[in-house]
Amino acid sequence: MLKPLALVIALCVLATPLGFGAASSAPGSVNIYSARHYDSDEELFERFTEETGIRVNVIEGKSDELLVRIRQEGELSPADVFITVDAGRLYRGEEMGLFSKVESETLNDRVPETLRHPDGRWFGLTKRARVIAVSRERVDDSVTMLDYADLIESEWEDRVLIRSSSNIYNQSLIASMIETEGESATEEWCRGIVANLARTPQGGDRDQIRAIAAGEGDVAVVNHYYFAQMLAGSQADQEAASKVRIIFPDQDERGTHVNISGAAVLNNAPNRENAIRLLEFLVDDYAQETLIRDTQEYPVVEGVEPSSIVQSLGEFTSDSVNAATLGANNAAAVRGMDRAGWR
Ligand code: FE
Repeated sequence: MLKPLALVIALCVLATPLGFGAASSAPGSVNIYSARHYDSDEELFERFTEETGIRVNVIEGKSDELLVRIRQEGELSPADVFITVDAGRLYRGEEMGLFSKVESETLNDRVPETLRHPDGRWFGLTKRARVIAVSRERVDDSVTMLDYADLIESEWEDRVLIRSSSNIYNQSLIASMIETEGESATEEWCRGIVANLARTPQGGDRDQIRAIAAGEGDVAVVNHYYFAQMLAGSQADQEAASKVRIIFPDQDERGTHVNISGAAVLNNAPNRENAIRLLEFLVDDYAQETLIRDTQEYPVVEGVEPSSIVQSLGEFTSDSVNAATLGANNAAAVRGMDRAGWR
C-alpha cells in the first residue's frame, strides 16, 4: 500500500517546480533545458518522438539561468539534456560540475574532436564563424583578405565596430587568441581595437552590420549567421546587408575563429539513455540540416551542406583551437579586455 503513494509523492516533488507534469521522469521521456529558441529545434524534437516514441519536454530560458536552476534542483533535477550556444557557456556548466561523461561511438565519430569536450562532457551541434564585415562602399574591392590583427592598424582608426566586452562571443574570440598568440599580444590587440573604435561598443552583431550600412563605421567583427539571416530577412535588413560583404579572417595562418552551439547530458539525468539517444539523433544528417535551417549556422558533421546563402559566403579554414579552451581561457580573456579599456 505504501509503495504507490511514495511513488506519487516522488513524482510530485519532481514535477511541481517545473511544470513538466507527472510523466516527466517516467521511462519514455527526455527533458531538455535549452537556451536555443528556434522553430526548427521544436520540429526536430517532434521528429525524434515520432522515430523513437520518446516524449520530449522542453524548458527554454537563458543559459546561465538554466544552469543555476539545474544546480538548485540538485539530485532531484528532471533535466536530462542542456543545450546552449557558445563553448564559453558550456564551460560554465562544466565548472559547476553538472555535466556527465558520455561515451558514444556515434558522437565521437560524427563530431570533430576540436568541437567536443575531451572527456565527452559536451558535444558541438552546430558551428559559427566570427568573421569580418566590411563596407562595400568605403572598403575597396581589392581588399579580399583581412586578419583580426589588421584591424588594429592605423588605416582602420575610427572605423572599427564591435560589441561590448561583456559579450560571450567576443570573450571566446579573445580566449582563442590567447591560445594561439599568448596573453600579452592578445591584450595589445584589444588595446588596438579600442583605439580604432568608430563608436563606444553597443548593440548586438546585427547592429554592427546596420552601423556599417548607416556609415557609422567601415568594418565590424560579427558572427557569420547574423549577416546570413539579414540577407534572408526583412526588407530593411536585406538593404543593410547589401551594403556589406564578409571576409573570413586569418586564412593564411591560424584560421577563422569558430565557436559552437552544443549539448551536454546532466549528471543527475533521470533518463540518461534517452538523453544520449537524443544527442546521437541530433548529429544525424537530417537533424544537422534542420538545426542549421533557420539559424544559418554550419553543421558540425562533415558532408552536410550549409544553406545556399551560407554557401554563397564562400569556403574558409577554421582555426584548430579546441572549443574546450575557450572556456578555460575565459577569465584571462575578460581580464585582458578589461585592462585594455574595452567596455
Ligand atoms: Fe547569436
